[in-house]
This record gives sequence, structure tokens and C-alpha cells, in this order.
Amino acid sequence: MRTKVTQVCEEQEASDDKPPPLTGGQEDVSNETGDPAGSSCAFPVSEELWQDWRWQMRNRIRTARQLSNLSPPTANLAGVSTAAGRFPLAITPYYASLIRRFDSGDPVFAMSVPQLQELVNYPALHDDPLEEDEDMPVPGLVHRYTDRALLISTTTCASYCRHCTRKRMAGHRESVISAARLRQVVAYLTEHPEVHDVIVSGGDPFTMATEQLEQVLSALRSVSSVEVVRIGTRVPVVLPMRVTDELVAMLRKYHPLYVNTHFNHPAELTAESAAACRRLVDAGVPMGNQSVLLRGVNDRAEVLEELFRGLVRNRVRPYYLYQCDLVRGVEHFRTPLSKGLSIMEYLRGRLSGIAIPTFVVDAPHGGGKIPLLPNYIISVSPTHTVLRNFEGMMVAYPEPCMQEGAVPPAQAEMPTVSDLANGRATKIQPAATGRHQRRSMRASHDLQETPAELTQ
Ligand SMILES: *Cc1c(COP(=O)(O)O)cnc(C)c1O
Ligand code: SF4
Repeated sequence: MRTKVTQVCEEQEASDDKPPPLTGGQEDVSNETGDPAGSSCAFPVSEELWQDWRWQMRNRIRTARQLSNLSPPTANLAGVSTAAGRFPLAITPYYASLIRRFDSGDPVFAMSVPQLQELVNYPALHDDPLEEDEDMPVPGLVHRYTDRALLISTTTCASYCRHCTRKRMAGHRESVISAARLRQVVAYLTEHPEVHDVIVSGGDPFTMATEQLEQVLSALRSVSSVEVVRIGTRVPVVLPMRVTDELVAMLRKYHPLYVNTHFNHPAELTAESAAACRRLVDAGVPMGNQSVLLRGVNDRAEVLEELFRGLVRNRVRPYYLYQCDLVRGVEHFRTPLSKGLSIMEYLRGRLSGIAIPTFVVDAPHGGGKIPLLPNYIISVSPTHTVLRNFEGMMVAYPEPCMQEGAVPPAQAEMPTVSDLANGRATKIQPAATGRHQRRSMRASHDLQETPAELTQ
């Protein structure tokens, strides 16, 4: 297998071998004419080194200059170095190889390349909108919900997401939790046996050396009331080669262990990332995915539908779809809440339930996660609740022990919602849904073939 970046070089040498057309209609980077040979070849590296996660970490793109060495000369990188001075820049060579176009219309570019818009201050935005720092009984341990706590085990990530909710800390100083701090965490958890679930987060825990991460996991496991450990990591997306056999062998010792990862766009579902997920799931680690709804990246229902289908194919269960937090530096990614709700409306009925995540807003002021759904409750009376399904059909759901005086169901000619709520009708049915077409096709089929004939 060859690397994507070296592929770009080879395609350039082969010259007239055009890569497949791109979604946005702009020229592919490798098609740029006048791009001096080698400018896209920042990583003409052996397959062995490319697959070495430590090589990937050492060779992360950390400066605007390194990025411009990778980009076609026409790429607009104005402001990259200014923005990176405020919020750190790092992109693994692997993740950079997924950039198809060097502009913010490209999802991988938009999620990883610093933009001047990050420096604009809006009054609603805060460095720590979830007030995590207020809920830390021990520095680095966020205890918000009674039975769960979240541990920031490192401030290092393989790549720094421009939309990160912990922009205030991720990457400003790359460090790992100290042994002394870990002892304080263990002491706190021992005094708080109501905490049954600890989320090891960061930063990205999978950027830690295997032994370092093992120290954290074994410390948590030394507290008998901690039943479940979850790891939050974007490594399967940005540094899949880090999910080594050695890492997985260590993780298996600490079951029940869950991993939640962070895919946002189908372009991130590569053979490499799929293999990383496979190694984890095959080791008995149930995987979930937490996406963030990002303007211009994945705020189209069809894009998320493709992503969620792809995740389920890879045995990764879509868990949350987050409304973008009110973090300073991410205003350009925010969508209105109505966008997420209309996406949820689109997905229900179209995708299997296991592929549909819960849409959540992490409430400002540390209020925690609040799930949001489109309105499926149309009307409520003491005897009936009127519900709406994904097709727009409205049904009256009769409550148990119908109250005295309730009108018995009798089909009204042209029922209203009020008829449904008061038991005068049971449904309002939109004509010609796909479901009804299938029913009527079956009805005509059944006229020719009775069930008895089918079983013979
Ligand atoms: C998200 C989060 C959790 C975990 O919440 P779940 O809904 O159980 O996934 C725990 N603690 C903090 C501080 C969180 O932000
Ligand atoms: S990997 Fe997670 S913690 Fe790190 S920058 Fe991305 S969103 Fe933030």
C-alpha cells in the first residue's frame, strides 16, 4: 500500500493521469499546474515509517510554513500563522493526506487548518463554556453528573481540531497527567463510590505512550466502585496507525472498556481508520462515535446519513451528534439549532435506529447534555396523545383506562387533530407514502397468491 501523499507525487510524475473529480468543482491539488515538482512531496517516506505512529507524531505539521510546503502555490493560507499563534496547529501527515483541496470547502482542511475567523470575539462565546473548570474537585477531573466523571489525562492531541470544545487547553502545552495528580484522582474516586463510570479524555489519551495510558487505566481500576472506563479519542480518525496490537493487548486487560471516537465526515472513513476500529472492536471494545455538527463541514443531512451508515458498517455506533459548543474561536462553525433538528427529522425513518445518534446540546453554565428531538407530540388530552410519525401521519395513542365520558373511536370524515385528541378518529394519514405504496402492492400480490400457497 502506498501513502496518499506519495501518491500525489507519483500522479504528478505520471502527469496526465487525472485523479477522480471532486465534489466542489474546484481543481484538485495534484492537478495544479506550475506546482514545482516535490512541493506536494513533503513526505516521500517508506511505507514502514508512514505506518509508524511515532513517526507520524514527530512529523506533524506544526507551522504555516510546513503547511505551505504541502500546499499548491495557489492555496490561500493567509492568517494561518496568526490564528495558529492563538490556538495551536498540528496535523498528522496521515490526516493531511486526506485534504483534497486546500480551501475551507474541504472538510478535512476546514477541521484542521487555522482560520482568521477563530480570532473574532463574539459576546456569547467563552473559553470554557461548559464551566468544566468550576466542576473540578481535583484539577483535571470533571465531576458533573453524580455517577460519572471525566478525566483529562493529557493535553496533547495528534491533530488539533479547529472546532475543539477544549480549545482553552488542548495543545497549548503538551503534557500528560502526573503520578501525583493521578494519586489525587484515585483518592477522590475512592471517597466517591457513587462514581461508576470514568471517561478518560483530554486532549487525546491514545497519544500517550502505552505504558503511560496503562498507568491511568490501572489506577482507575484500583478503585473498585469504578465499573466502566470509557476512552474518548480521535486517534482512529487522525492517527489510525496508533491503534497497534501492542496498544490493543494492553486495553483488553481493563475491560469493561468502551471507546468513543470522533468522526465528523465520510471523507474520514478510510481503509486505515476502518482497520483501527476493527482492531479495537475485535478486542471486545464497544465503539461509539461523537460527531459535532459543523457549518460547511457536515451540516447536510445526506453527508451525515452517509457517515452514520459507514460507521455502523464498521461496527461503530453513532452515539451523540453535538450542537457546536459556545467556545471562543468556533463561531464560524456554529449552526442554528433548527439545522440539527431538521437533520434528525430527515434521519428518522430513513436510517436504522442503531445508526441514529442522539442530538445533544451541552448546556452553557455546566448544565450538561440536553437531548433535542423534533416535536413528535402534536396534542395531548387526558384520553389520547396525538403523535406524529416520520411520514407526517398523525395517530391517536389511547391512554390506558380510558376516562369516563371519553367518546368511543368513530372515524370522522375529515378528522382534525382535535378529533384525534378526543377519540373521534384514530389517524390522519398523508396519501401515497412509500409505506402505503408497498402495502397496496402487497395487497394486489396477495390476491394472486394466498399465504397457504406461499407455504407450500
Ligand atoms: C459528556 C460528559 C460525560 C458523559 O456523559 P454521557 O451522557 O454519559 O456520555 C460525563 N462528564 C462530563 C463532564 C461530560 O461532559
Ligand atoms: S482530538 Fe478532541 S481534544 Fe483534541 S483537538 Fe480534537 S476535539 Fe479537541
